[in-house]
Amino acid sequence: MPATNDPTTIILEVETFFNKASEYLNEEQVLFVRKAYNLAADAHKNQFRKSGEPYIIHPLGVASILLGMKMDDKTLAAAFLHDVVEDTDYTKQDLTNMFGSVVADLVDGVTKLGKLEYVSKEERQIESYRKMFLAMARDIRVVLIKLADRLHNMRTMKFMPAHKQESISRETLEIYAPLAHRLGIHAIKWELEDLAFRYTEPETYYDLMEQVKVKRQEREQMVNDAMEILKDALKEQGIECSIQGRPKNFYSIHKKMLRDNKQLNEIYDLLAVRVLVDSVKDCYGTLGIVHSMWRPIPGRFKDYIAVPKSNMYQSLHTTVVGSMDQPLEIQIRTWEMHKISEYGIAAHWRYKETGGSKAATGSEKNYAAKMSWLRQLLEWHNDMNDSHEFVDSVKMDVFADEVFVFTPRGDVLDLPKGSCPIDFAYRIHTDVGNRCVGAKLNGRIVPLDARLKNGDIVEVITSKQSNGPSRDWLNIVGSSDTKNKIRSWFKKERREENIVKGREMLEHEAKRLGYDSKVLLKSDKLVDVAVKLRQDTEDNLLAAIGYGGVLLGTVVTKLVDLYKKEQQATTTKDLAAVLAELKPRKSKAQASHGILVKGEDGIMVKLARCCNPIPGDPVVGYITRGTGVSVHCADCVNVKNASEEEKSRMIEVSWDIGVSDVYRVNIIIHSNDRPGLMSDILSVTTDLKLNIFDLSSHTDKNKSVTTKIGLDIQSLDQLEFIMNRMRRMKNVYSVERVVTGTGGIK
Ligand code: MN
Repeated sequence: MPATNDPTTIILEVETFFNKASEYLNEEQVLFVRKAYNLAADAHKNQFRKSGEPYIIHPLGVASILLGMKMDDKTLAAAFLHDVVEDTDYTKQDLTNMFGSVVADLVDGVTKLGKLEYVSKEERQIESYRKMFLAMARDIRVVLIKLADRLHNMRTMKFMPAHKQESISRETLEIYAPLAHRLGIHAIKWELEDLAFRYTEPETYYDLMEQVKVKRQEREQMVNDAMEILKDALKEQGIECSIQGRPKNFYSIHKKMLRDNKQLNEIYDLLAVRVLVDSVKDCYGTLGIVHSMWRPIPGRFKDYIAVPKSNMYQSLHTTVVGSMDQPLEIQIRTWEMHKISEYGIAAHWRYKETGGSKAATGSEKNYAAKMSWLRQLLEWHNDMNDSHEFVDSVKMDVFADEVFVFTPRGDVLDLPKGSCPIDFAYRIHTDVGNRCVGAKLNGRIVPLDARLKNGDIVEVITSKQSNGPSRDWLNIVGSSDTKNKIRSWFKKERREENIVKGREMLEHEAKRLGYDSKVLLKSDKLVDVAVKLRQDTEDNLLAAIGYGGVLLGTVVTKLVDLYKKEQQATTTKDLAAVLAELKPRKSKAQASHGILVKGEDGIMVKLARCCNPIPGDPVVGYITRGTGVSVHCADCVNVKNASEEEKSRMIEVSWDIGVSDVYRVNIIIHSNDRPGLMSDILSVTTDLKLNIFDLSSHTDKNKSVTTKIGLDIQSLDQLEFIMNRMRRMKNVYSVERVVTGTGGIK
């Protein structure tokens, strides 16, 4: 392309532009666009492109592409102004004042899209990026201007450094060409693809171009002959038509060769025949004539008129066997369908805009109706072939609920509108969310409830010391997904608390009942009980106890049952092994009652109620079934009468002298009443600083007094000492230790 340095050349181009514009815009609209041109020309007047050309060449080129698509005055004005806010001193507000908010918003939208950084990614990411692109554009005209902007830049890219050519071309292939395709703008799509193809794979491109040239020449005669014959046949049937030879674009030939693993000479639609007619009826009429003249190849007929493609493309396609047995592809469509296939959404836009006449204007009132129409159009898709190309993605009203943001690595995430950095953190990973303590938006620290905007770069700050999410977050976050994750964290945390609590409750109850919790609450027993109570696992059982879902008493009863069974089962076991299981209960001192079992301290013992031994009594131990060792006086009746089996459970025990245990004894004092008697009796215990835990006195009608005292004493000697002192008191005639019955030693 020759550099356009000559001002007269530019002026000529500008005049050509406005002549064409006045073909479909009214005078007022043309003036509006001219005002935009004048401002752009002035604003950019000292700027030049890499090629050395005046900068205005670029906005003029962009506007001309959109003029070719017969876009409305506002789009054309915005096209002229699209780089003004970014590259000159004019602000968005200036444009609003001069051209109104629609044009200013269009320019603003294009500027923002230009700032999006694109790094080539895997397909999923590319799709999100395209979505974000459309979501940010809001108005489809922004996308159209951006496409024209890209097309003009691609056309004039040869002055760019090679690495820029490469990266811009890749972006064009991954984002812009698919967008153009999606919006049905094939004229732009094909040109973008071939330009990008040339820069990304120049050798392949030029090689293919040469081959195609030769191949097309070979086929040209055949195609031309076919076109002549068809034209005559249609004329005979009274069908008005225009017939063209359609060259396929290089990039799609290249893709087809790669995809189908074909050589160029195996591709027959390098040149297709395209028949343009006036009506749908003529389309099917033409098809009938084509099929009567040449034999159709089965499976190649496609009726995109009855079932249009998702991007609004309509046409009849068929492939027939032409002269020299060569396949020939024929496309049949109306002029209107053709416009749509070339300009897609833009064609619809223009059609609606002008109502097919020059006079109509796009009032703002129509605008809302048009947008809803556009949404419907974009929503409507049933082309299954397109399902891999972001068919769902162009639905703008879907995007209205989404916000697209970048990770620091440049990945795009889509989140529900109203999302905050917490939502972002949870989307990255649940752990990141749980440990999130702060966030940065575009490099600046923000509060966690900051709302995310399209294009924000979000960075989450986490801390290992974090105590997890806060309940307040539930009111801040924008996504129900995030809420669920936070809730489940709390549920899980509570569960852990519940497990701890459940275990504590069990341990406490086991101690209260005098069991060794380590034995009673052994894992195998807990699992056993858990299964019985349909809690499956030990943790579930403990959590249920903690939560109150299972009664503590129920669990303990079952555990005790298991424990007793276990004890019975071990009767024949080595007694020493059984003893090893018997551990101290309560505090060591209380548990042992100052008794050594087989020379060992700390075994769980109890003093037999039948004979209430106290230190100094000759004693013997008996290994009970499940409640430790009971200690009897050696001369206890029960010991003497024990069976052989019971005798085998007898064990040697002895008093551990020096242990400061106390023993409960009850003594009964019989006396005749006299003043000061009770005081004298109590003075004995007071002198010895003994604890009285029970005291009662009863005087009968004969003035005979029976006094019961419950005392904590330390040894048999001490008890004898006390009793002797009391016996020596005036009016006391008997002092006895209570050996059996209630109130005895427990
Ligand atoms: Mn530009």
